[in-house]
Amino acid sequence: MFHKILIANRGEIAARIIRTARSMGVATVAVHSEADAHALHVEMADQAVPIGGPRPADSYLRGERIIEAALATGAQAIHPGYGFLSENPDFVEAVEAAGLVFIGPSAQAIRAMGLKDAAKALMQKAGVPVVPGYHGANQDPEHLAGAADAIGYPVLIKAVAGGGGKGMRRVDDPGDFADALASAMGEAATAFGNDTVLIEKYIEKPRHIEVQVFGDGQRAVHLFERDCSLQRRHQKVIEEAPAPGMTTEMRAAMGQAAVRAAEAIGYKGAGTVEFIVDGAQGLRPDGFWFMEMNTRLQVEHPVTEAITGIDLVEWQLRVASGEPLPCAQEDLAINGHAFEARLYAEDVPAGFLPATGRLAHLAFPAGARIDTGVRKGDAISPWYDPMIAKIVTHGPTRAVALGRLAAALDGTEVAGSVTNRDFLGALARHAGFAAGDVDTGLIARDIEALTATPAPGQETLALAALTAQALGEGGALEGFTNWEALPQAVVLEAGDSRFDLRIARRDGGGWRVALGEAVLDAEHRAGGWWIGGQRLPARAVRSGAGVSVFGAVTHHFILPDPLAVAADAGAAAGVIKAPMPGVVKAIFVKPGQAVVKGARLAVLEAMKMEHTLAAGRDGVVAEVLAGEGAQVEAGAALIALEE
Ligand code: ADP
Repeated sequence: MFHKILIANRGEIAARIIRTARSMGVATVAVHSEADAHALHVEMADQAVPIGGPRPADSYLRGERIIEAALATGAQAIHPGYGFLSENPDFVEAVEAAGLVFIGPSAQAIRAMGLKDAAKALMQKAGVPVVPGYHGANQDPEHLAGAADAIGYPVLIKAVAGGGGKGMRRVDDPGDFADALASAMGEAATAFGNDTVLIEKYIEKPRHIEVQVFGDGQRAVHLFERDCSLQRRHQKVIEEAPAPGMTTEMRAAMGQAAVRAAEAIGYKGAGTVEFIVDGAQGLRPDGFWFMEMNTRLQVEHPVTEAITGIDLVEWQLRVASGEPLPCAQEDLAINGHAFEARLYAEDVPAGFLPATGRLAHLAFPAGARIDTGVRKGDAISPWYDPMIAKIVTHGPTRAVALGRLAAALDGTEVAGSVTNRDFLGALARHAGFAAGDVDTGLIARDIEALTATPAPGQETLALAALTAQALGEGGALEGFTNWEALPQAVVLEAGDSRFDLRIARRDGGGWRVALGEAVLDAEHRAGGWWIGGQRLPARAVRSGAGVSVFGAVTHHFILPDPLAVAADAGAAAGVIKAPMPGVVKAIFVKPGQAVVKGARLAVLEAMKMEHTLAAGRDGVVAEVLAGEGAQVEAGAALIALEE
């Protein structure tokens, strides 16, 4: 076994790898960007090396700098985590050339699976079923259109170098093929520098079922399947293992196909073979097709760990250090069911816009495995993936594990950034999902119900107001002598809503909270608030100038500073501000120009996405306050409008 390894990653996965390394007595070296100087993974590691600026290209993607750090600290091996350099064969070769071990597959195995067309051809040869389609070299649009006709519509155009759903277009009508092809190729050329595409049969009710494989370079085993069908725009949202409705025959067929795939490329380490399954036809041993192989540890690996009891990172370290596979296929068994939900800093009502912020409050419940790379007080920066945590639950049955997931989400508390917590909670309570009736279209079909934002009820408002005033057990204001005589006014703001409440002491103890005509009695006892005679299934936390209430739904309120509000009101209407930190990509207007409500004013690039900023009302551009190419902070004024 190694005595010291370097982790070429950040966030939750770096922290997770360090935890296992430590339990095995292996010392760890973290690397970090300037933005991560105080990050959790840096604090956890035995040693840490700064490797450059906040941009991934200036730090976590600098292979040569990372190898230098490993050599300088005496690390013998490099664990790449996922993302960044994990599937970069040139990096693997550089690591090996420096006399170090890459904890993962060979450069050659990564290359074999790097492009979807070559991978499909290889898998076909190994006897693994692939999605019917054309993955040849002839990229002539006429030829590809002919291939699409032969396959039969609907078809899916996919960039061979694609990832994250980019360069992918569904085409239903032959008349739309040429346009869709041009746009898929254009997107692929920009995103991957490679415009080659393949054409596939579009599976109508697709389920994404993937098999975890593990090889030692000679043999491979599989650790059963994960179902990742709950997706939003081809991105996984909640994963589970095993797949609902899976039969013994189909599991055996998929497992064998995945092991064949891994052994065909002499696979070493943890990998995932992704299959697409036609949910409309049910789960059948002949109804799954290879999509691609991911030659790394996946984000969702904890659900496999939960049902097999195996630590995949431990296996990675053992195999990379030269040990054979720790066990044989027949030693592996499934125990119960597991779910993983990906908690992100994102603004769901605004269309799942990535969010940033400082986590003024962060708490997770007991009873779930929490893989996180942040602590209370840490910032979610615009530089990296805005994941806050992975929440993993396990149970003897799917229903119990899912119930535990819903409860764990309800018990999760984040303030300082908006999150997708309530959306995940709504999914965990979704009837179709509970019935195991999953396919990749489920979220899109029910998106309105899943993202509904109910208005706060009276009890919630009362709880927020009491918390704002720090009442309750040992509350700061309880000792005030004239507090009984003077009712306290509390203003809560949420978006465009404003709530005016009054709190007064009640004869005989407790409080009386008035909201318009309604009056609720409130009492703090047995560790919680009883409001209107009931113990609320929610908790409230005051942080900074806000109060957050966490139940099945989260409500964040701002406690307005009465002086600041007046000053801001005049300016806000006429100033277009950056909604998040980013780079100004384009400014479309000049001073003096008249604009109408909804007109495009500027484009801000943030979190790897472009956001168009539009005029909120008609007006004339008074001033342009930021230039193209400028790096701006959240809230920075970009354009001022006048009447
Ligand atoms: P990427 O590498 O860009 O993530 P994948 O090939 O892994 O692309 O596909 C991503 C998702 O797109 C799949 O999980 C599935 O939801 C959908 N998808 C892929 N291929 C098909 C297909 N042939 N028919 C229908 N949906 C598909």
